[in-house]
Amino acid sequence: MKTVKKQPSRMCIACREMKPKAELTRVVRTPEGEIFVDESGKAAGRGAYVCNQKECLQKINAKKLLHKSFSTDVKKEVYERIEEDAFGNE
Ligand SMILES: [Zn+2]
Repeated sequence: MKTVKKQPSRMCIACREMKPKAELTRVVRTPEGEIFVDESGKAAGRGAYVCNQKECLQKINAKKLLHKSFSTDVKKEVYERIEEDAFGNE
């Protein structure tokens, strides 16, 4: 018999809705100041979450929300990587 694990929820930085972690892309800032898309979801550091909705991805791009979240410059590649992670290579 399988026990249903309770999914931890996190807040999307764009729409500010709580979503199960599976629907979010985690971006992490390591203590060394590196910022990248954390596919394992286990990297150490401060995390920011974006849900897999086109509007949210557009919003973080347009308003540089990652920038704000981490209070530092976030490379364009990171934003692009999030989009890839959410939608694959279309
Ligand atoms: Zn969202």
